Amino acid sequence: MNTPVKYIKGVGEKRAELLNKQGIFTLNDLLHFFPRSYIDFSALTPINEIIPDTVCCFSAIVGYTPVKHTIRKNMTLYKTMVTDGTAGVNITIFNNTYLAEALEVGAEYIFYGKVTASHGSFEMSNPIIEPTGSDCPVRPIYPRISTLTSGIMQRVMSNAVGIYSTKTPEDIIPDDIRHTFRLCHQQFAVKNIHFPASSKDIETARHRFIFEELLTLQLGMKRLKNAARKSTAFTVTEDFSEEFIKKLPFELTSAQKRAIDDAVNDMKSGRAMNRLIQGDVGSGKTAVAACLIYVAARNGFQSAFMAPTEILAKQHYESLSALLKGSGIEITLLTGSVTAANKRKIKEKLRSGEISIAVGTHALLSEDVEFCRLGLAVTDEQHRFGVSQRGTLVFKGENPHTLVMSATPIPRTLSLIIYGDLDLTVIDELPKGRQKISTYCVDTSYRPRIYSFIKKHLDMGLQAYIVCPAVEENEEYEITSATEYYERLCKDEFVGYRVGLLHGKMKAKDKEKVMSDFLSGEIQLLVSTTVIEVGVDVPNSVIMVIEDADRFGLSQLHQLRGRVGRGKEKSYCVLISDNTGEETKARLSIMCRTNNGFLIADEDLKIRGPGDFFGARQHGLPDMKIADLTGNMDIVRQTKKACDMILARDPLLTSRENRPLAEAVDRLFSREKHLSLN
Ligand code: ADP
Ligand code: MG
Repeated sequence: MNTPVKYIKGVGEKRAELLNKQGIFTLNDLLHFFPRSYIDFSALTPINEIIPDTVCCFSAIVGYTPVKHTIRKNMTLYKTMVTDGTAGVNITIFNNTYLAEALEVGAEYIFYGKVTASHGSFEMSNPIIEPTGSDCPVRPIYPRISTLTSGIMQRVMSNAVGIYSTKTPEDIIPDDIRHTFRLCHQQFAVKNIHFPASSKDIETARHRFIFEELLTLQLGMKRLKNAARKSTAFTVTEDFSEEFIKKLPFELTSAQKRAIDDAVNDMKSGRAMNRLIQGDVGSGKTAVAACLIYVAARNGFQSAFMAPTEILAKQHYESLSALLKGSGIEITLLTGSVTAANKRKIKEKLRSGEISIAVGTHALLSEDVEFCRLGLAVTDEQHRFGVSQRGTLVFKGENPHTLVMSATPIPRTLSLIIYGDLDLTVIDELPKGRQKISTYCVDTSYRPRIYSFIKKHLDMGLQAYIVCPAVEENEEYEITSATEYYERLCKDEFVGYRVGLLHGKMKAKDKEKVMSDFLSGEIQLLVSTTVIEVGVDVPNSVIMVIEDADRFGLSQLHQLRGRVGRGKEKSYCVLISDNTGEETKARLSIMCRTNNGFLIADEDLKIRGPGDFFGARQHGLPDMKIADLTGNMDIVRQTKKACDMILARDPLLTSRENRPLAEAVDRLFSREKHLSLN
């Protein structure tokens, strides 16, 4: 299986290079390069039943010798007509003399391609033409790799499958697992994913490969989990959480208390904590983290608190500082915008242990930040970071405790995979006294009314946000449109009010100024791009207006809406969109019906379909070749069982039988560079 691809017949040096670029190095890699689709030359449609503008396949007799038309140099067409007795189709072949001249008048062929109707007759351009009665009626179509067309790949693959079949390697899935979960043998799967005898066989083979990939993923996540459960020197000996809770200006919810207990118990256990706290927006995750950081500091070890944006880091820094006032615990903020000189000082103090708590952004991950005794690493809004970044912070200490926090509601079974390496606490309760955020969907004709509504609230001393949408792949445009929007409001509707502007390209200093002015009430109305999406906490703001709301995903809208409804005042969210499509309306109306993030995520999943709910980029898992996490939930559940069965008898996957599986785990996870499993 480890034969380099260049030795496979039909490949050679040049093609091997192209394949290598795609991550295909060995016979095994090549066999796992799956067809994108198949053409089934046995599923024939009678010509008179063809639906125009669809791709179809029919069997027909050639009516006359293809007539050659030379359009210009290098452009030759051949035209003929074919029929199956029910109707005829005009065939045009471009620049393929060989194919056109090989067609025999009166002989029967299979034609595959898109049929169009024009002036009452069927037309087909450049069909794929096959002889009838082939013994391999289903043909694989491979994704094109540079100059390697599907046809070339098909010939190469035929040789690869040939080599594989003569060697009969062992199946990487153990026999009993294969029987329990009714999977076909690897031999059958390899042959039929590439050269199936029928559509049913493709399904059987695909199912087996999806299972194999998900099993490999789960085994890998489990191994990551076990690796993280190392013993640690940072053991909490005294639980100082009560002391901290007393200082809080509010009563913690019982869910918050439970989360603190779970984590403190982890930290007492002598093994490194590795916990995810999942709680809807506004559920009060920061207070939980603050409490644990306090406990860590009182037990004599340092903490790092990492947030995805500078704004959020700054905010966490400020609320922690306030809570720690008078405790003698030193805290610092380390972000990209701290001056070099200050950075040096801070780093020095972290190295010496003088500072106990570092709050920051990715800057905390940079290589030269060293801690004296980092015992707790907290990551806020975990979904913004990848699994690998989660790891980097951990490696800065000697097995510190790790706590990750996320507001992204993920169906439970899925979070088992995505966060399979973590223990889970769910905060399923909002602080007392929160009111439902009333949400409305309106079109742009409502803008004047919305502006008056906002002004009424600003006059009462409250605050509001207006969010302009992110423009895909075009930050410049996004910023221009937010800036113009802001300028218009200042000149027209909001003359006399204090309006602020915030977008991602502003200098960190300016961003900070705007945010602190908004927090202090100096700015009453904040026009912003989605930079405020995560975490920002200004309890005095009660209205969230979202322009072009249809451009956002539901979960993102929910996050944005979560910026209001954080205090005692009644809050509102207005979604503006002129899109009248049924689907859009249905989607946005879900926001009006519920404030529950988990329900919203489920609905989002149903409407948008599994495909784009999670890009691999969003959850930080390795790229999958064939499995789709949300589309294959049944198999996800099965592989979880299989994973437990395998690890029960061979926890480290070291037995001879499991060696191929262990290698597959390494391969899958090595695609993500940082994810070292050892
Ligand atoms: P999130 O879980 O979205 O990160 P935050 O931690 O930002 O939520 O908390 C949201 C707001 O609720 C903050 O203003 C915080 O001070 C406040 N808060 C947190 N816990 C409680 C509580 N138990 N009672 C009242 N207010 C709380
Ligand atoms: Mg938060």
